[in-house]
Amino acid sequence: MKSREVQLKSRPPGLPSPDDFEIVEVDVGDAQEGEVLVRNLYLSVDPYMRGRMRDRKSYVAPYGLGETMTGGAVGRVVTSRASGIAPGDHVLSNYGWREAFRAPGERVQLLGELAAPASAYLGIMGMPGMTAYTGLLAAASLADGETVFVSGAAGAVGSVVGQVAKVKGCRVVGSAGSADKVRWLTADLGFDHAFDYRDADLRAELGKGAPEGLDVYFDNVGGDHLQAAISHMREFGRIALCGAISMYNDTEPAPGPTNLARAIGMGLNIRGFLVRHYGHMRDDFLRDMSGWLADGRITYRETVFEGIESAPEAFIGLFTGANIGKMVVRVGDAA
Ligand code: NAP
Repeated sequence: MKSREVQLKSRPPGLPSPDDFEIVEVDVGDAQEGEVLVRNLYLSVDPYMRGRMRDRKSYVAPYGLGETMTGGAVGRVVTSRASGIAPGDHVLSNYGWREAFRAPGERVQLLGELAAPASAYLGIMGMPGMTAYTGLLAAASLADGETVFVSGAAGAVGSVVGQVAKVKGCRVVGSAGSADKVRWLTADLGFDHAFDYRDADLRAELGKGAPEGLDVYFDNVGGDHLQAAISHMREFGRIALCGAISMYNDTEPAPGPTNLARAIGMGLNIRGFLVRHYGHMRDDFLRDMSGWLADGRITYRETVFEGIESAPEAFIGLFTGANIGKMVVRVGDAA
């Protein structure tokens, strides 16, 4: 079977451009003994991939030049010579930006009967949803009824953070990069206060949204958002450092928060985390999230780009705010 895939062609110093990627066509062949042949339905584009485009060790290995952009994808099995996997099964894999691929059966994860549309397994029912759930409940030790601020609030992780906090009876403040996003947060997701950070005084908005201060800040953005949140934390508040997307395309290291000493006097707990640190919470996450989706307490949106050739543009769009909810690329027909 023929498949087109997207490879890394060059390492951009700043914001990536479509020229940093190349689309190639390969023949993936057919499943050999122990293997499955999978046609992908949806590919994930995620901010962490930006770090992998640098030739520098981080918590995930860098992509090599000429290497296919690996990452999350959901697809259907076309042929299987692996035990326990049948044609038509939905599988989650980490083979990334490819229309189709061949792999050992143990390298794909069977999704079983879908509790949500296939694309949701890259978002609310997948890695970003679990990041929100574990980061809020475990890394930030959220307690019922607290006051929470989340940045990147209209994105895949942030929109789930805010909604889980509402389920837990919290007051929720969010920041996002457009009036449309802000409207979604307050009108549809139940945020108590939201603002467009592009034309706002962050500290003034936090004062409006959380006059008594913040118990929890869930940081997706870093930089001035982190600085403003530190200034507004209550005593013994917790900050979960999930991501720092405002810095991912920086060509020079950005200065750290200048008010970090406030963490001492206020007894703040500032904790970085990766979703994989909380793998043991997977069953709890799947049970709670499918329940909340089924009873309508949590909802989600996706921004869908069409065709594998749009994957670079979708990915770059993460850094310009082109997505509401989870950004995915549709490469196959789910029917
Ligand atoms: P996302 O929020 O769906 O997409 C990225 C969003 O970031 C964009 O829509 C954009 O929205 C915002 N953004 C881009 N540049 C920005 C800037 N300079 N300042 C402020 N906001 C900016 O992405 P996601 O997958 O949910 O990831 C959110 C964060 O979580 C990222 O930092 C990511 O690295 C992190 N993450 C961490 C883990 C972990 O295990 N720790 C796992 C997954 C994700 P606006 O229009 O609002 O600017």
